[in-house]
Amino acid sequence: MIAASRARTGSLALVLVAVAALAQDREEERFRRQREALVAQLASERWTGGEPVRNARVLEALRRVPRHRLVPPEQRPHAYEDRPLPIGYGQTISQPYVVARMTELLDPQPTDRVLEVGTGSGYQAAVLAELVAEVFTIEIVEPLGRQAEQRLRELGYANIHVRIGDGYLGWPEQAPFDAVIVTAAPDHIPEPLLEQLKPGGRMVIPVGARYQTQELLLITKGAKGPRDIRIQRVMPVIFVPLVRPGERP
Ligand code: SAH
Repeated sequence: MIAASRARTGSLALVLVAVAALAQDREEERFRRQREALVAQLASERWTGGEPVRNARVLEALRRVPRHRLVPPEQRPHAYEDRPLPIGYGQTISQPYVVARMTELLDPQPTDRVLEVGTGSGYQAAVLAELVAEVFTIEIVEPLGRQAEQRLRELGYANIHVRIGDGYLGWPEQAPFDAVIVTAAPDHIPEPLLEQLKPGGRMVIPVGARYQTQELLLITKGAKGPRDIRIQRVMPVIFVPLVRPGERP
């Protein structure tokens, strides 16, 4: 009797595990379809939200990164809507279109070492990690940085290095970088970041006053030192401010 009831309980548990696995597969499949639809929208020439994203490698990276696994669980249903999302600690992450355009502007190459300032959810870092050799990303809010680090590890990104600290100062021990991307807005271009960019390197950065519309800049560095730069204005954007230690956002 006991043996028979154990066997029944055992097979019931197996059935439950199988049902849960099936439900999870279906959910993953739904997220995959939503992600495909979002990427198609960002690449569409008919889309009126701005320049369409045309770089095929960037579009492929967006198809691969499971954004729903990097946002807070309660935001998962919105992970593939093209809009900013709250990630806690008063921070928001950019809409996917802005991530895609900024990545495209960086012109990422497979051998590049890239610095990101403002890890946030880790989504932008994951997109870059699909495209370049190494990503070094700095977050000033420790719990946000640690959480992103853990989620990125669970997703298997071994080429992303997370540091807690003030990204204004860059990551001198790992410099110089082929590209620098800043995902919080300072009111001027941080000198250390220009110094840590290789000659010929690209920097994409929103610059402007706090909580006002900022200008997204594409900066290309020449061979004659930190001040030999070319600045292109790309589009108006709104980012959370780049804060310095001890400062309130
Ligand atoms: N790239 C992120 C979005 C970041 S939102 C993503 O894909 O999710 C901006 C982030 O910059 C916030 O998490 C904020 O805490 C962080 N930040 C603000 N000032 C900073 C600084 N001086 N150094 C590093 N990170 C900073």
